[in-house]
Amino acid sequence: MRISELLGDGRVHLSCEVFPPKRFDGIAGACETARQIARLGPAYMSVTCGAGGTTPGYTLAVAKAVAECGVEPLCHITCVQADRQHVTEILDNMRSSGMRNVLALRGDLPLEGERCHDFEHASDLASFIRSRGDFCVGGACYPEKHPESVSRDADMDMLKRKVEAGVDFLTTQMFFDNALFYNFLYRMLKAGIRVPVCAGIMPITNAKQVERAVKLSGSIMPPKFAAIADRFGSDPGSMAQAGIAFATGQIVDLIANGITNIHLYTMNKPEVTRAIISNLSSIIAPG
Ligand code: FAD
Repeated sequence: MRISELLGDGRVHLSCEVFPPKRFDGIAGACETARQIARLGPAYMSVTCGAGGTTPGYTLAVAKAVAECGVEPLCHITCVQADRQHVTEILDNMRSSGMRNVLALRGDLPLEGERCHDFEHASDLASFIRSRGDFCVGGACYPEKHPESVSRDADMDMLKRKVEAGVDFLTTQMFFDNALFYNFLYRMLKAGIRVPVCAGIMPITNAKQVERAVKLSGSIMPPKFAAIADRFGSDPGSMAQAGIAFATGQIVDLIANGITNIHLYTMNKPEVTRAIISNLSSIIAPG
């Protein structure tokens, strides 16, 4: 199944992201977590690649566990430390396992150590992957602009270049204010970018995550959510409930306003994912 075709069919889809372990001895646990989430019936599941591209083998192991549950995996590949040969090997491995969907990313630049220069930008990686066979290629986008971009217009120009390089669909960075996403879609249309976009939603279920999410994504935390974190942050049970309710509300608002593709950053938490999917059981049909 090509994910871009699924996302373009006009029906409502909810997909999930999981991450692989940092160490080899964590693979069994990560695969089990991925299976638990797969059994909740997402439209597909993306599996991230460790920062700096250090764990592509682990990404594939978790992706295979997802596929065994009958859910389509989307494998992330980053170009920061991957040369052409390395990417070719990953793609060959994917092909022999029947996987055809890739999210092509640059990855975060390493603070120290060498980076590979075979691919400078995600667009270079995307066009290389397209040249290696019949892969469906996704890319990342940033409703609040990528933190390195000098302006939203410059960011949009580069996004257009990425799509022209062969990206079939986009997934957004997490955002907490839907108005930013609606504005982003408007600017995309104005720029002539027409590929399907998946709205990335991260349920924030503990106080520590708040600071981390803002730091990682550069996202604006709306006052409504800041009040939730202030009020419930010191009580884990209440914070989890409030975070699930906030993410559910964001998704309901998106769907009510015509958005059909939602991507849940699960943080490998099956219980949080289950609660959100259960809240939406009549709104989003499984698969
Ligand atoms: P790019 O598209 O290359 O953009 C990076 C910057 O370069 C932007 O400012 C852009 O405007 C600019 N740019 C792009 N092309 C050009 C050009 N041709 N000339 C000049 N400037 C250009 N990180 C991981 O390590 N592993 C993961 O699995 C992972 N998954 C992610 C999934 C999603 C949905 C998202 C949103 C992010 C993910 N990230 C992941 C983080 C991502 O790797 C970082 O945000 C990284 O800093 C940028 O990656 P990119 O693919 O958006 O890069």
